[in-house]
Amino acid sequence: MTILQGTGVVPGIGTGPAVRPTPRPTVPDDEPEVSAEEGAERFKAAAEVVAQRLEQRGSNASGPAAEILLATATLARDRGLVGLVSAQLGSGSGLASATVAAVEQLSDMFRSAGGLMAERVTDLYDVRDRVIAELTGQAEPGIPMPEVPSVLCADDLAPADTAGLDPAVISAIATSLGGVTSHTTIISRQLGIPCVVGCAGLDDVEVGTDLLVDGSTGEVVLDPDPQMAKERQDAAEAAAEAARSWTGPGSTSDRHAVDILANVQDGPGAQRAAETNVQGVGLFRTELCFLSSDTEPTVEQQAAIYREVLDAMGERKVVIRTLDAGSDKPLTFATLPDEPNPALGMRGMRLGLRDEGLMDRQLDAIAEAAKDSKGDVWVMAPMVATEGEAVWFAARARERGLTPGVMIEVPAAALLADRILKHVDFVSIGTNDLSQYALAADRMSADLSHLTDPWQPALLALVGQVARAGRDAGKPVGVCGEAAADPLLGCVLAGLGVTSLSAASTAAPAVGTSLATHTLAECEKAAEAALAATDPRAAREAATAALG
Ligand code: PEP
Ligand code: MG
Repeated sequence: MTILQGTGVVPGIGTGPAVRPTPRPTVPDDEPEVSAEEGAERFKAAAEVVAQRLEQRGSNASGPAAEILLATATLARDRGLVGLVSAQLGSGSGLASATVAAVEQLSDMFRSAGGLMAERVTDLYDVRDRVIAELTGQAEPGIPMPEVPSVLCADDLAPADTAGLDPAVISAIATSLGGVTSHTTIISRQLGIPCVVGCAGLDDVEVGTDLLVDGSTGEVVLDPDPQMAKERQDAAEAAAEAARSWTGPGSTSDRHAVDILANVQDGPGAQRAAETNVQGVGLFRTELCFLSSDTEPTVEQQAAIYREVLDAMGERKVVIRTLDAGSDKPLTFATLPDEPNPALGMRGMRLGLRDEGLMDRQLDAIAEAAKDSKGDVWVMAPMVATEGEAVWFAARARERGLTPGVMIEVPAAALLADRILKHVDFVSIGTNDLSQYALAADRMSADLSHLTDPWQPALLALVGQVARAGRDAGKPVGVCGEAAADPLLGCVLAGLGVTSLSAASTAAPAVGTSLATHTLAECEKAAEAALAATDPRAAREAATAALG
C-alpha cells in the first residue's frame, strides 16, 4: 500500500475509485475570425447559458455553497468582461482565443486588487472554461457524475464545482493544493464530505485507482488493504454515530466545562445550528450578510438581520462580531479600494476607528435586536491590536448595555491579553488570522498552508498565553477559528485552558464528543506534548499519543 500524506480537514473515511474533474476545453487552432459585434453577442449568449446553469445548481444548494454558485454566475455576466472580449476581436482573433486573453486581463486586475478579489481568479478561470466549452461544443468542464461512490482528486477545486458536489456520489475529496481555510475545506465541511488537502504526490494518482481517504489523519491510501479499510470505516462510523448522539453541554469526561458553540453567518445558518446541541453561537460573522450591498444597510435593516439569528437561538448565547470588512472580505460601503497590502491594512475594527459612525450604527442595531432576545447577547470586535482599541470598543458597547469582548487575532493583542482583559468581559481567539500574522504567511496561500496550520506550536503557545491571562482574570477565552473544528485539536485547546470552542455546526458535535471522552488532565498532557513538538505533524502525533 502506498500512503500519501496531506492535511486532514474534514474527519471521516471515504473510499472508492479516483475520479478527476473533466479537463479544461482546448482552444481550437483554426478558429474563424469574428467581428467585435458578432463576437460580443455570441460571448454574451454563451456566458448567459453558463450563468443560468450555475444559478440552477445554486438553487439546489444552500448556505455558502449556494452563495458561491450565485456569485460565480454573476461573474459570468460581468459587463466588463464582455467589453474586454470585444476589444480583443476584430484583429484576426477567434472568439475562444479572445475569451482567454480577456479573462487573463481581468485576472491581472483581480490579482493586483489582492484579498478576496485575488481569490476570485479561480472562479474567473472556471467561468472562462465553461464559456469556451459552450462556444466550441466541448464537454462542460467540472466534476463527473460517477456511477459508484468515488474519491474526487484534483489539484484544487473550482469553488463552483465544490459547491455543487453530491455527497451521495463523492465519498471523499483529496487535493494536492489548498489549506485549512480554502474554499474546498469550507464547502466539504459544510457538506460533511471527508477531505484531505495539500496532499503531495496526488497528481500522479491515476483515474480508477482504488483509494481510501482518511480525513482525520490526512492520509490518502492507494489500493488499501480491505481489512484495514473496514477497520477504519467502522471506527469512523462509530465516531460519526457518537457525534450524532452528542447531547452537550460541552465538557471533558471529568466534567470540566468547555462550551461548544457554532459559527454562523445568517438566520438560516443559525436555524441549522439550533437543530444541534450546541450551546449557542460563538461567532456570528456579520460582514458576510452584506457582501453584496453597495450601500451601508440602515440600523433597522441590520437589526432585522441580527434578530433572525437571535430568534433562531432562543435562550442560547450569541456572540455577534462587528463588521470584519476588508482584506479577504471587502464591503463596497466600508473598505478602501486600493490598498497595497489589504491584510495589513484597513480591516476589521480599524474601519470603525476611522469612521466611528459605522461602528456606532452597527452597535445601535445590535442593541436594538438584543432588546427582544431571550438569550445572552455578547458583542466583539475583530482585528484589535492594542489595549487602547479595546478600551475604545468596550466603552461604546457598554454605553448600549452590551457585553463587550474582543477577538485576539493579532499577535500584539495575544501578547498583551492580560491588559486587554482588564477592559472587556471576554476574548475569542481567531486562529485563522492569528496564525497568518504570527507565522507571516497569507492564510489564502496554498503554498504556505503548512505555516498557517493551526497545529503550529507557535500558534498553540500564543493560545496558551491568552488562556492563562483569561484564567488569571477569571474571564472566558474562546477559540472561534477553524482550529476549533478539529476534534483532536479541540482537546488540546481545552488543555491549554480555552473555555469555549466555536466551529461550523456540522463540525461542532464531533468536537463535543471528542472532548467528552477525555479528562482535563489528559487534555493538558496532550497540550503540553503538542507545544513541545517541532512542527504541526509532530504536534498531531504527540497529541494523539497523549490522548491514547
Ligand atoms: C479567525 O481569524 O480565526 C476568525 C474566526 O475570523 P475570520 O476567519 O472571519 O477572519
Ligand atoms: Mg479573522
